[in-house]
Amino acid sequence: MSAPDSVVVEFREVSKTYPGGVAAVRDVDLRVHRGELVAIVGPSGSGKSSMLNLMGSLDRPSAGRVLVDGHDIAALTDREVSALRATRIGFVFQQFHLAVGVPVLDSVADGLLYAGVPLRRRRARAASALARVGLSHRVHHLPHQLSGGERQRVAVARAVVGGPAVLLADEPTGNLDSASGAAVLALLRELHAAGTTVVVITHDREIAAALPRRIEMRDGRVVADTVTEPTTGAPA
Ligand code: ADP
Ligand code: MG
Repeated sequence: MSAPDSVVVEFREVSKTYPGGVAAVRDVDLRVHRGELVAIVGPSGSGKSSMLNLMGSLDRPSAGRVLVDGHDIAALTDREVSALRATRIGFVFQQFHLAVGVPVLDSVADGLLYAGVPLRRRRARAASALARVGLSHRVHHLPHQLSGGERQRVAVARAVVGGPAVLLADEPTGNLDSASGAAVLALLRELHAAGTTVVVITHDREIAAALPRRIEMRDGRVVADTVTEPTTGAPA
């Protein structure tokens, strides 16, 4: 058994119904522990992105409670939620969302703006995050000078530069060829091996099958939650 404080994300009977009545998430209970690597898998429209948006405090549930890094999202002001998100949660999306014309080093350093880190330290930490993703030789490049796979690695560096409690990735390989996708996946595995908690959404069953824990969604419900290898390196 893990100690309660090792829970990074917890859903308690969480539902999300969008205006117009679409029930995207229905009555979901789950816990993600520190150090886990979890896949959320399911067909298009099954509620995966809605789940990730709730985990990342980008959205609030219609019912139930979401706790992230020990904080009950409902108990926080919008300002506190923004701070939690900026400092404790890293996001990677299918579209890389890198600002046009901004050099890679600054794109990553901007991930620390909210934390109030001075510019020189931001750049130093950005350089080491870029080294972690294997892009030390690309720090002065602009996004359009990079391949898709490299852009996604920059996005990963930006997501982890602040040392988040959890890295949330929504179809991070969705826009990549299979070799670049495999490289990004390998990178997420490396970050996990180094201690980062990672939740990755994929509709790709092959990718999901290779990950230690899989949460399967259908019509907004968790229909299976399968662990096939110890995920935290700690004894069971
Ligand atoms: P997935 O990521 O698994 O494809 P989503 O979470 O994006 O699924 O969507 C789940 C359901 O909720 C779908 O039926 C989708 O059309 C609907 N949905 C998603 N976002 C919104 C929204 N902002 N407003 C209304 N309906 C939405
Ligand atoms: Mg989606």
